[in-house]
Amino acid sequence: MQKIKRKSLLYKSGVEYADFCLNHVEGCAHGCKFPCYAFNMAKRFGKVKTYSDWVKPKLVENALELLDKEIPKYAGKIKFVHLCFMTDPFMYGYKEVKGMTLKIIEKLNESNIKCTVLTKGVYPQALTNSKKYGINNEYGITLISMNNKFKREFEPYSAQYKNRIKSLKYLHDKGLKTWVSIEPYPTPNIDENQDLQGLLEQISFVDRIIFGKLNYNVISSQFRYNEMFYEDCANQVIEFCKRNNIEYHIKFGTQRQYNKKTEIIFKEVCKLPITV
Ligand code: SF4
Repeated sequence: MQKIKRKSLLYKSGVEYADFCLNHVEGCAHGCKFPCYAFNMAKRFGKVKTYSDWVKPKLVENALELLDKEIPKYAGKIKFVHLCFMTDPFMYGYKEVKGMTLKIIEKLNESNIKCTVLTKGVYPQALTNSKKYGINNEYGITLISMNNKFKREFEPYSAQYKNRIKSLKYLHDKGLKTWVSIEPYPTPNIDENQDLQGLLEQISFVDRIIFGKLNYNVISSQFRYNEMFYEDCANQVIEFCKRNNIEYHIKFGTQRQYNKKTEIIFKEVCKLPITV
């Protein structure tokens, strides 16, 4: 795996439900084709030229040294750190990425900083070791379909849906907090075998669900009932969450009426020690 060095790592995220964020890999072997926002940004800013460059990830080898400098610099300002919006922290089949991610979580937790994590890979069971990793971290998977044909086309190199759910359930069963990002949820003219209710039933054990529409996709925007479709889906998610005592947030622009109050989905005050 190629390595690069960076000058900085932590930054304040623009994502409505996040706080600080970091991306310790450039590129992503999952190669999603929704399209991937991170890939488009990397192209725009000249970090990669082509899709085949993007799917050859480069590890930021000085990530831990950067954290040693930046954690004190942002002391008192960080509520929690999200891994990752512009790559995948548990990139499927990349042991070096997994190893670095675990060290980063450990370092942040040692400094009493909680992590929220999001992957299309599978979670290592090592995260249940409460001597190393905080019990207040929140582990999420992205899940936007249960249709393997859709996955082959749009998320070709990420983990199988059932394996993502299985690894998340394992963490849940061990008492850790879990969540699911159902974003970018495709319109029916892209995923013809959609079953939102069936998907929700698979993840009824999680603590939180975030739902958001598919943006930047021409075919999706051509769907005649686009607005009505997302309105109905969001209502279905809300109804399911209320019934199952799950916290939820519907991303900005998905419904006509935006509920800003649910943006604080991860911002509860930690009263427990971060590790035991
Ligand atoms: S997992 Fe995320 S960062 Fe990686 S290719 Fe897919 S959408 Fe992009």
